[in-house]
Amino acid sequence: MRSAKEIWEAAKGALQVQVNKANYETWLKDTIGVSHQGNQFVVGTPRAFAKEWLEKRLRSLIKKTLVNVIGQDIEVQFQVCPSPNRVSEGQELPAKILDSLHPGFPPSKFNPRYTFDNFVVGSSNRLAFAAALGVAEEPGHKYNPLFLYGDSGLGKTHLTHAIGNHAAENGLKVTYASSEQFTNEFVNAIKEKKTEEFRHKFRSADLFLIEDIQFIGGKPQTQESLFHTFDELHNANHQLVITSDRPPEATPLSERKLCSRFEWGLVAQVQDPDLETRLAILYIKAERQRVQIDKEVFEFIAHRCQSNIRELEGSLNRLIAYAKMMRKDPSLELVQQILQALTSPNLPLYTLTPTSILDAVADHFGISPAFLQSRKRDSQLTLARQIAIYLVREKTNCRLQDIGKMLGGREHSTVLRSYHKVATRMLTDPLVQRNVTQILATLPQ
Ligand code: ADP
Ligand code: MG
Repeated sequence: MRSAKEIWEAAKGALQVQVNKANYETWLKDTIGVSHQGNQFVVGTPRAFAKEWLEKRLRSLIKKTLVNVIGQDIEVQFQVCPSPNRVSEGQELPAKILDSLHPGFPPSKFNPRYTFDNFVVGSSNRLAFAAALGVAEEPGHKYNPLFLYGDSGLGKTHLTHAIGNHAAENGLKVTYASSEQFTNEFVNAIKEKKTEEFRHKFRSADLFLIEDIQFIGGKPQTQESLFHTFDELHNANHQLVITSDRPPEATPLSERKLCSRFEWGLVAQVQDPDLETRLAILYIKAERQRVQIDKEVFEFIAHRCQSNIRELEGSLNRLIAYAKMMRKDPSLELVQQILQALTSPNLPLYTLTPTSILDAVADHFGISPAFLQSRKRDSQLTLARQIAIYLVREKTNCRLQDIGKMLGGREHSTVLRSYHKVATRMLTDPLVQRNVTQILATLPQ
């Protein structure tokens, strides 16, 4: 007779192909087969929160899988017990291993962390997730175009990058642009008489992903150019993915034909996440940072941030950063104190350090902080570096020379130039404004 351990390992193998990777890694990977007596099977998990999740969400799938493996009807129970495989709480992995788990190289235009595997699926985003996955797997065939819309911070960019990452891995040519980038490139192409190159760049892609289409309202020429790009790609069965903060019919474009084309394929909304999804997101993000946090703390944050996942993550990151700095546990008391301080700005709880800013910038752009110090100069990396300089100068009293030193020995004058560049673009360029605001939202204030 097979032991509970053997049976469970076989069941885990079967479960691994039935749930997405984020779910598997979070809820199932560390589980063990504890005992099998009569028709009772006990599964052990190292954490109380995971036990509840397994009971509520995965019980029937687990039961079905176990019945298949054992060949008889079975009742499943879950219990909390330590797992030998797990990195023990609070124990950090050596930096080298961590680097290999989150390789920052090569800095691609897609955030390596925005993958389908890292996306928590709930009722609020199920359709958008399934459609995005379908498009990534069979671009140009299933839903063309795919139009994703919803409020800010609900995962549109995450899903768009996930499509990009997936397609790029399969060797497809993917063009990605925010609406501002598309507009800027279009305007520059006209100015520099390079419209042929512009056309070729955007119309030769297997997949064309364009984000935040609401920002090209009021730009009729850009809309017209996008309209032709759309038609050419669509006629050739190339995939288009568009995101917006509102549905196609409400998108403020003067080129109405374009809006109606957006409805040709599939329109999917990402909605506010329900409590379970918010808890799962917090759980997964804390797990990834290898921080042990009590369920009541997750619940407190999840109740406080109901309609923006970026803020949800930001609150968690603030808590973790502050707890680390003060060498305290990320307790309920601490989280209450920190999140309260946000609403009373007179209480300075945290002084930002240049390193925490560089980390936040690297994190935002999905690169390793070492790249900020490197000599590499692709446009995304240059922007990340300039924003890092801007934020360190604005938020700390680090001197220009020292900022230069921290960023791989750059000259004082180079640092100052970068600072001014971002300071100016902060007044005029929504792309830079948005990046800076999003980074600031993740920093303890
Ligand atoms: P949007 O483009 O809709 O404004 P983003 O895609 O930038 O939102 O999402 C904001 C943050 O929330 C990102 O860090 C993203 O990874 C995270 N996020 C959003 N939805 C999910 C989800 N379902 N699972 C995991 N992380 C998510
Ligand atoms: Mg976005």
